[in-house]
Amino acid sequence: MLADVVIAGAGPNGLMLACELSLAGVRPVVLERSPEPSRENRANGLVGQVVRMLDRRGLYQPLAGKPEPPQPLPAFFFGAMPMDLRPLEDNPFYLLPVPQTRIERVLAERAGELGVEVRRGHELTGMSQHAEAVTIEVSGPNGCYEIGSRYLVGADGAHSTTRKLAGIGFPGAASDDIVLRIAEVAVPDELVDPATGGLNLPGYGSIPPMYQRTERGVFVYGRAPSRPDMVATFEWMTDGFDPGTPLTLEELHDSIYRVLGADLPLRPPDAPGPQRLDRSIGVNTRLADRYRDGRVLLVGDAAHVHFVIGGPGLNLGLQDAVNLGWKLAAVIHGWAPAGLLDTYEGERRPVGERVAMHSQAQLALVAPGAEVTALRELFAELLHDRRTIAHIANMMAGADIRYEMGVRDTHHLVGRWAPDLALESGRLAELTTTARPLLLDLTEDGSLATAADGWGDRVDTVPARAKESSITGLLLRPDCYVAWATDTPRPDHRDRESLRTALTTWFGPTAAR
Ligand SMILES: Cc1cc2nc3c(=O)[nH]c(=O)nc-3n(C[C@H](O)[C@H](O)[C@H](O)COP(=O)(O)OP(=O)(O)OC[C@H]3O[C@@H](n4cnc5c(N)ncnc54)[C@H](O)[C@@H]3O)c2cc1C
Repeated sequence: MLADVVIAGAGPNGLMLACELSLAGVRPVVLERSPEPSRENRANGLVGQVVRMLDRRGLYQPLAGKPEPPQPLPAFFFGAMPMDLRPLEDNPFYLLPVPQTRIERVLAERAGELGVEVRRGHELTGMSQHAEAVTIEVSGPNGCYEIGSRYLVGADGAHSTTRKLAGIGFPGAASDDIVLRIAEVAVPDELVDPATGGLNLPGYGSIPPMYQRTERGVFVYGRAPSRPDMVATFEWMTDGFDPGTPLTLEELHDSIYRVLGADLPLRPPDAPGPQRLDRSIGVNTRLADRYRDGRVLLVGDAAHVHFVIGGPGLNLGLQDAVNLGWKLAAVIHGWAPAGLLDTYEGERRPVGERVAMHSQAQLALVAPGAEVTALRELFAELLHDRRTIAHIANMMAGADIRYEMGVRDTHHLVGRWAPDLALESGRLAELTTTARPLLLDLTEDGSLATAADGWGDRVDTVPARAKESSITGLLLRPDCYVAWATDTPRPDHRDRESLRTALTTWFGPTAAR
């Protein structure tokens, strides 16, 4: 039996891809080396466009635990400097403060509901590809075996075996002198400033929530309801500890003392379960030199790693998965237009490059030293300018993406993320949970729908009425990027022709099966 797709890795990005493929009618096999779900809470939350993406798949509500749609944040940070987002007319910054273990649990549940087969304790160990298929070698609990598959996707993290087996390079830069310490702790309540959520620390003074950079390093503090306090430091010194031993509260306490020059009492959290105490040395910024090699593709950390500040990792990786899922499914179903699968790398690698750029820029802005302090003062001035804030916020959120749609750009939305249009029947986000291509016909006479006759097996056509929008037609790819749009109240034959061109460009000719 030849599988359609094997995914190596049931981390968040592998699970998201599995869900997307299943929604598109392809049943992947997921191989996961670890016999049990991870208890490691790397990400503390999701930041940026990905929050809206999860809303478009009906995953925001189960993760957030509330029925309301996501709301933009009033403030965030660039290079550990506060950024007031309230002046922005179209604030792109969304946050979902949930730990990675919960994200993985919700995605695993969704994958289970969709019938995805996740083989835990099964490790990808070898691979060879031929013209028609990939032969995958697996080491499982009952021994070694092989699976043939039309495609293999490596979602197996930063040290990706898939990437290495495919011979895909992972060039980039390494800063070996940085130590990140992060722990779940209990900070005395009397030190917490209820007005700001930061700290009032004797010997130092007021510390805002999240980041405090000094000329000796960075201190991070966060308190969230029903979770232990999170404390972290970044220091640019790699001596004074034994890297072979686990991080202790004493070592973290001493690191905080060096960064702040003040004493922060710490004790283990009251919550049950293992206490998070992690130390990592060095920061890597790397990007796979290709996202595809024949029948092998990479998503998530297998394709890119970068400094963690601002939490861009899953914003990038989960949207890689959403970009790839429908394209790979289209190839497997046989209706993909020529070159569709190559647009995955064409679209997503530049986004990865941009994250590498802004996370490295932020790494430079939090480094020690008086010159960096001067640079920060300059940036702090720039961050009062609304246009600068908009530029940086859109970049960090990943909301500045405009994909090349290959059709004459008739409308400012073409290539961009579709706005969550308010419709008389609800929100646009409620129509995209199936992950199918969608033609929204907002004309009074429903005249656009007929133009899509012939694509009915691939494209859902939904007549609707928009509230407070001049848009009369919108063609969405399953990743919610706009392939075609119009404001024309009564679309004529030219509008319908350009719609058919967009349908053919992204969803293949009508005759293809
Ligand atoms: C300290 C820290 C804080 C972070 N904070 C944030 C944050 O706040 N927000 C954010 O968005 N991101 C954050 N990140 C980044 C985020 O954790 C990663 O981007 C994310 O885990 C990548 O997901 P992934 O699925 O690509 O890979 P992983 O999560 O690494 O999953 C890969 C999976 O593949 C499995 N695997 C590996 N090799 C094989 C094999 N050969 N065969 C089968 N299975 C295999 C592994 O067991 C694992 O389950 C943080 C990272 C760190 C280190």
